[in-house]
Amino acid sequence: MTGTLDWWSKILSRSWPTISGKNKHSLLHLLHHTSFILFVCFVCLNNAQKERSDTLHEINENGDDLQTEKKKAEIGEIKPGINLQGYCVNKERCLASQSELLIWINIGFCRIWSYFPNTSFPCPHCGELSVNSILKLMTYNSEYLCYVSSTKKFVRRNCYEFTHEGISKEFCTVRVMKIRQHAESIEDLIKRSTNAMRSSKIINLLKELKRHGITSMTSLKGNKRLHQKILEDYKGDFNQVFDVGRFTILCNTPTELETAVAVMKKAYQFKLIVSEDKDFFNKQSKTHHRSHNIKLYVPEHKVYVEMQATLKKYTEIENPEVSHLFYEHIRAWKPKDSPTEEELKQASDKTLTKINDIIYEWIDKQEIIKIASRYKPHSKIRILRPPQLKDMTKKEIKSKKNIPLILIQFVFKKLCKLNPKKTEGKAIYVKYIMGEKNPASCADVISVLIKSKDQELVEDKTMSQDLETYIPLQASDRLNRIHDCYKYRKQRKKSEQQQQVIILQGKSGSGKSLFCRYLEKKLWEFYINGSTTSVPVYISLPKCYNELDENQIISQTLQKKQINKDIIDIIRRNISF
Ligand SMILES: [Zn+2]
Repeated sequence: MTGTLDWWSKILSRSWPTISGKNKHSLLHLLHHTSFILFVCFVCLNNAQKERSDTLHEINENGDDLQTEKKKAEIGEIKPGINLQGYCVNKERCLASQSELLIWINIGFCRIWSYFPNTSFPCPHCGELSVNSILKLMTYNSEYLCYVSSTKKFVRRNCYEFTHEGISKEFCTVRVMKIRQHAESIEDLIKRSTNAMRSSKIINLLKELKRHGITSMTSLKGNKRLHQKILEDYKGDFNQVFDVGRFTILCNTPTELETAVAVMKKAYQFKLIVSEDKDFFNKQSKTHHRSHNIKLYVPEHKVYVEMQATLKKYTEIENPEVSHLFYEHIRAWKPKDSPTEEELKQASDKTLTKINDIIYEWIDKQEIIKIASRYKPHSKIRILRPPQLKDMTKKEIKSKKNIPLILIQFVFKKLCKLNPKKTEGKAIYVKYIMGEKNPASCADVISVLIKSKDQELVEDKTMSQDLETYIPLQASDRLNRIHDCYKYRKQRKKSEQQQQVIILQGKSGSGKSLFCRYLEKKLWEFYINGSTTSVPVYISLPKCYNELDENQIISQTLQKKQINKDIIDIIRRNISF
């Protein structure tokens, strides 16, 4: 019985930290004399202990056990930082309260945050300040330091999930911060990371993964690349970097990935601490990159290393480097105050998620096939040089260090060069064509012009009716010979290869405009069936003519047809009219 009592005493001191030494003794004394109760308790506790060990997730630096409870009926989500769990007392108006559901309240990260017993918190369900029976405080994916008034003790943890039970009656102050490295310099961080990756504990974990048929790849960032990244992405704060050393685990199936994650989450067996658990495999991240990321703390070297598990097939996509480089370009880009830059950044972010939706199968195959069916190669649609690049050379763009320009140049170059063969590759190509303000290819310009022509005819009902019942227009030339205007133009074109101009004179209502529209219609037919490469443009002189600006008449007409001024020069270099 004494053995049992020793064990009992241990349990008491562990899970009831609020019982003072004296009270504990009297309680033990009482239990000693009521062996029946003790026996019942013992059985109950034994079961409880067994249950807990099933859900045991972590150990702390000293190797003590920490426990996380099995899930009860609860609402709300556990988010990084501080989370409180309690009941809402607004019985009259809150459904969550009526159903006695446990509610999670997220506080987030806090440098200093204090809990006072009986404080009320807003209920996320009914919106009222009515959650006041807080049962526990849980920290998630954070570094946690807590001072409890009753025990006058500090608790420090960095396991991904730590529960501080029974806080309802005690005052406590916590500091819950985002995980960061604790190195003194970049060199120190590299040294610690390297040592950690070679440590026996990590090697044992890798062996365990291998035992399950799962292999991993190790990558250590080069010194130069690391310095650059720290400077660009973290403004020199090297303690925010976790991928100095990274393990990538490429799995063949989702089940294999699940196994890999389960093994990693049992890293406490190898005296490693699972400090951050981000499941971006089942839940979409901001960028839609798909992997399960786990940060392990290696106490021996006081450093975090990152493990990333994903499916092998995601890395086998056509031209994988393009999506990666695109991401690298926009990752650390913070738009300056210009709205156009902000717009481009948002469009780029959206494009990235859409590309990732294809790569990481967030959308189904049918949808991907549908997108890919819109693909046409550069040789056919002829991608236009974006107007932002103007006449700048590659060197000039690079020297400007302007992210939008570099990005635009990158995407333009890739669109001209890539020639995808597989469905996914084609769908990705389609997604790279972004921005709706300017047409991206010659094909887009043509479609804008056709739409505009059709719209003009819709607006001019008499003209479109007359076109349907068109009677060939007769006119006489300088020598008073009568010609059918359309046939005359055709003959002239055949005999004189160079550019030609025909001027048609006549009284108002004699059919000049109608003839021009008819000619336009015919020329479009020739363009579409491929017998000419020149695009017809109908210019209404009364609408566009300006004596001072005679040279700009085509540009002005195009602008009236909703084509942006910036891109007209580029269009004129690529399309003949
Ligand atoms: Zn409520």
